[in-house]
Amino acid sequence: MPLRLLPAALLAFATLLGAWSPARAQGPIDERFAEPDLPTPDLARLASGQPGPAYWQQRADYAIRVTLDPATHTVTGSETITYANNSPDTLAFLWLQLDQNLFAPGSAGAQVFPPEGRFGGGGFEGGYDIRRVASGGAALDHTIRDTEMRIELPAPLPPGATFSFEIDWSFAVPENGADRMGRDGDLYLLAQWYPRMAVYDDVSGWNTMPYLGQGEFYLEYGDFDVAITVPATHLVGATGALENPAEVLTAAQRSALDRARGGAEVVPVVAAAELSDPASFRPATTGTLTWRFRAENVRDFVWAAGPRLVWDATAWEGTLIHALYRPEATQWREAAAMTRHSIEFYSDYLIPYPYPAATAIEGPVFGMEYPMVVFVAPETTPEGLFDVLDHEWGHMWFPMIVGSDERRYAWMDEGFNTFINLLSKKAYFPESEPVLENTAQYASLIRAYSEQPIASFPDEFDPGGPGLGVGGYIKPGVMMTALREIGGHELFDETLVQYTRAWAYKHPMPADFFRMMEDGLGMELGWFWHNWIWTTQTSDLAILGVDQTQSEGTWTVTVTIDQRGRLLMPAAVTATAGTATNTVTIPVQAFYGTDRATATLNLPAKAEEITVNAGPEWGDINPQNNTWTD
Ligand SMILES: [Zn+2]
Repeated sequence: MPLRLLPAALLAFATLLGAWSPARAQGPIDERFAEPDLPTPDLARLASGQPGPAYWQQRADYAIRVTLDPATHTVTGSETITYANNSPDTLAFLWLQLDQNLFAPGSAGAQVFPPEGRFGGGGFEGGYDIRRVASGGAALDHTIRDTEMRIELPAPLPPGATFSFEIDWSFAVPENGADRMGRDGDLYLLAQWYPRMAVYDDVSGWNTMPYLGQGEFYLEYGDFDVAITVPATHLVGATGALENPAEVLTAAQRSALDRARGGAEVVPVVAAAELSDPASFRPATTGTLTWRFRAENVRDFVWAAGPRLVWDATAWEGTLIHALYRPEATQWREAAAMTRHSIEFYSDYLIPYPYPAATAIEGPVFGMEYPMVVFVAPETTPEGLFDVLDHEWGHMWFPMIVGSDERRYAWMDEGFNTFINLLSKKAYFPESEPVLENTAQYASLIRAYSEQPIASFPDEFDPGGPGLGVGGYIKPGVMMTALREIGGHELFDETLVQYTRAWAYKHPMPADFFRMMEDGLGMELGWFWHNWIWTTQTSDLAILGVDQTQSEGTWTVTVTIDQRGRLLMPAAVTATAGTATNTVTIPVQAFYGTDRATATLNLPAKAEEITVNAGPEWGDINPQNNTWTD
């Protein structure tokens, strides 16, 4: 509906104008309208929030051979990285990420997050053994510092040039790999397993914030060719498409996968009953087999292997969907169907899932996302499994397709994802009220705990408390639903799609998102970003007074609204009389310099109920004072 500036609001505005002096006219006097300091747009990052003609991004392609030795729980690999310098800068050295060193004795992460906590290694002492770093047969000087490695280039790498080099390495697999990877009995979930490029970008140069455990990842895009050698008895699930099914699968399994490609049903590829006899479902039962996977345009690669996995498959629009789980995880019989729902839902709401495979793997990790793969715990109820699976699948869009910097901005992946999860859950469980639950959780958690702003770095959130949960997930989810109310569902949804498309396989920054939203919605939202993201202010609108008068059959209702929180919101005031209803939205600018503003509505009868920002979408922390009844 169109915004309407009301007489009372104009009066308040005029009063404020009278108090202005020219020297102070450069910014808002009312600190509730303060705006964040954003970088000046340039030809790389345009004022529209889109990547511009000068936008550039590095690229890293990987060819990796890796072997799992279950007897020693050791992973041994050899990789060739081809690094393309698309920047306008000449590089003298490269930085890589060595995430397994989080588990090396005395790591930085162990000093920040307790080893027995969720993001620790449980006291496990491991880390990388880097055996060789070389290019063209010549060793490369390198320096390892905790989870990072600097490699000296033999000659400066000019703009437009590529450099290939090799690394040989091994590490022992921790049982608890910071709840992101690890092993449980004979099952291995392998992530953060190969040395990989740090991001070099136009904002920070080399991004070398250490991996401490709680903060996630910022990675370059590229293609992966990976050959994984495991005991012949093991099944492997991985990022990418399987390149050599004839060598590692039986004829029956290959035809089951062909059936699954139809997408109409969930097809058992390996059934629980087969697991007691490896000869029934493996082409060989002694020695090793090598599984080859290829993945294009992804920011990471993970895999899992185990000898006792049920395998279900189905498909959506050409994407093969797999669920791999141990037979005890009975809830997982629904995992393939749930995955298909998530892939379909987010493809419709955002942009189509672009990859050839989507593999859900059950195991000792509570819930973690990687390109084309999610690791999720067994779970005990359909809703519990759906919540985690759907969340991890939502991550395929944020940050696997839209490659934001997770180590700095949890809200740009976890928060955006929490928001789309609310829509997806409502579609899967129509009786559920995910938005209501999310807003109620936010309102209750910020009363119970000392809140940290959304803008906090992920590693800055209190490791023991719900800080990251509120600031990284729940509250940004509330913020997005509130923005969708302010901007209108249609324009908001369209703009979110445009943002997803514009920044697919790229590295957006917060300002890029802000600018795309402001342009798409046609609104200056500095006050909104500032208060939601950089402060712990809250929105609490209340109906302060209602006055009703009648003239010639028309009732005029005057409603006074009080902004009791310092996080201002426009006030959508709705009056209802029988079946008649009328809504007027007081723009946020009506509250310049004042807490109060008035809406005037006409109705054919006396209003029985009046609401302001009713519904959990608005993110109001105190809904009790948002409704008036006669
Ligand atoms: Zn997440």
